[in-house]
Amino acid sequence: MTFQQARRAARMNPSIIREILKVTERPGIISLAGGLPSPDTFPVEAMRDAAERVLRDSPREALQYAASEGYGPLREWVAGHLAGQGQRVEASQVLITTGSQQGLDLVGKVLIDAGSRVAVESPTYLGALQAFAPYEPELVSVACDDDGPLPEGLDVARGARFLYALPNFQNPSGRCMSEARRAALVERALALGLPLVEDNPYGDLWFDVAPPAPLASRWSDGVVYLGSFSKVLAPGLRLGYVVAPKPLCPKLLQAKQAADLHTPSFNQRLVHEVIRDGFLQTHVPTIRQRYRAQRDAMRAALERHMPPGCHWNVPSGGMFFWLELPEGVDAMQLLPHAVERGMAFVPGAAFYADHPKPNTLRLSFVTVSPERIEQGIAMLAQALKENAL
Ligand code: PMP
Repeated sequence: MTFQQARRAARMNPSIIREILKVTERPGIISLAGGLPSPDTFPVEAMRDAAERVLRDSPREALQYAASEGYGPLREWVAGHLAGQGQRVEASQVLITTGSQQGLDLVGKVLIDAGSRVAVESPTYLGALQAFAPYEPELVSVACDDDGPLPEGLDVARGARFLYALPNFQNPSGRCMSEARRAALVERALALGLPLVEDNPYGDLWFDVAPPAPLASRWSDGVVYLGSFSKVLAPGLRLGYVVAPKPLCPKLLQAKQAADLHTPSFNQRLVHEVIRDGFLQTHVPTIRQRYRAQRDAMRAALERHMPPGCHWNVPSGGMFFWLELPEGVDAMQLLPHAVERGMAFVPGAAFYADHPKPNTLRLSFVTVSPERIEQGIAMLAQALKENAL
């Protein structure tokens, strides 16, 4: 029996990162490829205690079906948290999602028709390209520099359903938009009538100063905002949120209902129990401190080992370095040589909706110790010198 598949199924692709991880997560390989947070940051004790309290105080509610919008006190917490970064949001606008990845899918479901235009950054988050693809958008890349999308580049997005933007420590490039760029971008988007979808899973992971206020705080009825607990608590709980302008909320809710009825009640209550009394105010600084030291180790290793002609930005937060190798080098072809030497990275081409730059690659600095970062970067440099230069 052959099943006739939907047209959208042909648009679905395996994540190249997950495919690469299968090959590279052999024991002994120094993998700088993954996008995983460090498990050493997971607050296991706090989770254990909170789980016990939830199961003691509200076991029936925690194990029962629940409202699709999400757990009320957690929605209130999110609204309060966002107020702290300048967003005026009511709890009724907060939809708790099963990871912010689900938020991207719901946004695609509600806003994209087959053939409608969607604008993305260049490069952009691969998981968003995967989430949008089944809805058959016509993707257009907006020209970017080290500060994010160029406001004048937005003209190619004229008539698009939205621009998907990652202002804080972007995955994959690590870049963070300046205050001036945010202001100019919102001004241009407003002038074009171009809605924005702002994805912010990394904003709290800054190393020196907090990033400027989100785009959503500058244009409350033109921005859909996505947040996540994955990078500040634990990704395995699959907990994120979408905050939308009020007219969009009912449709996102209906899309959510159809997708999974609601995000697990137990996980929502567990996280709320952990964070309700200000836990993140002491916990997140410990993650920042750890990741800053890791970032410094990778910066030092890159400076020590990489041959001339390679460029990188030093990220001021988040989890990634983005490297440009000399023109003409193909990172995809370099990868097997690097793996042979004992390290792995993600080739950059996968992160482009169009016009990929084959000489780019992404390195994560958060899960590997400084000593192994040093070894891994030395291996990368060797592989490059021996096979590509
Ligand atoms: N957006 C970006 C930019 C990401 O890097 C990730 C995780 N890799 C996500 C969304 C999804 O995160 P989650 O579903 O765990 O909240």
